[in-house]
Amino acid sequence: MNDLLVIKNLYVNFLVEDVKVKAVNGVSISIKEGETLCLIGESGSGKSVLGLSILRLLPENTEISGEIIFNGKNLLSLPEKEMRKIRGKEIAWVPQSPSTSLNPVLKVGYQVAEPMILHLKLSKKDAYEMTVELLDYFGIHPARRRAEEYPHQYSGGMRQRALVAMGTSTKPKLIIADEPTKGVDVIKKVRVVKLFEKIKRDNDKLSLLLITHDIPFAKKLADRVAVMYCGQVVEISKAKDFFKNPLHPYSKALLESLPSNGLKPIPGQPPSMINPPEGCKFHPRCEFATEKCLKEPPFFEHNGNFVRCYLYD
Ligand code: SF4
Repeated sequence: MNDLLVIKNLYVNFLVEDVKVKAVNGVSISIKEGETLCLIGESGSGKSVLGLSILRLLPENTEISGEIIFNGKNLLSLPEKEMRKIRGKEIAWVPQSPSTSLNPVLKVGYQVAEPMILHLKLSKKDAYEMTVELLDYFGIHPARRRAEEYPHQYSGGMRQRALVAMGTSTKPKLIIADEPTKGVDVIKKVRVVKLFEKIKRDNDKLSLLLITHDIPFAKKLADRVAVMYCGQVVEISKAKDFFKNPLHPYSKALLESLPSNGLKPIPGQPPSMINPPEGCKFHPRCEFATEKCLKEPPFFEHNGNFVRCYLYD
């Protein structure tokens, strides 16, 4: 399969008064057509900032460099007008908070129909009929009546499905979903997994970037896993290898911290994003650290997977 998205050497800093918050520090990853890439890591590791960078939805105090090539175009050098045509049409964003992401004063049907009117140039009537079909497809019943309701009349799960309906309505090439299981109980989590499985089953060319700290969720859906730590990707592995034998010491610690694996806490404190550690960002917490680790490790290949750690030199 071809690469749909290639991110090269991406840096994202936020300038807050005279302080620089280094949110993304030299990330290079790619997503293939039809692939599901799960971006995992602790909160504050830069995952959501990376997702928002792809859509160029970052605040004004952002410094950004590198390349984000989508379908052959570098998104970072496109005029805003061009970017607006891609955002919501070719790349959809499913935000992490369904309760605050829908406009409370507009009917859900109107909100789901809007991207189709804007990007696909459908008439209001046709977009509305498509909306009813989409709500029905995503299990929001009876769809025609539900389309006339406001977000507060929906349950949390229904709001999330409505957001996914909105995201998929323009048949994008890439969906970026930010923490789709955040604050969701176990039963609803199963529904979210089924929802994404259904979307992938019916659109085999669709690529998914799932940003999540929920590792069991990632295990259900990922083709490949990218692990983020302190604004860097430290491992990119095929999912079947990653969940059996993670490579990076941080990846191992992350899996061992799961309740199903003994709930072993990761030693030490998460790093400062203002003054990140020199060299390997994980070295202050790593039991295998040596003098060498004070120099930043490059990526090493290991059985077709990639890891930023001198243990694989
Ligand atoms: Fe640990 Fe060194 Fe590997 Fe970093 S490079 S994870 S400090 S062994």
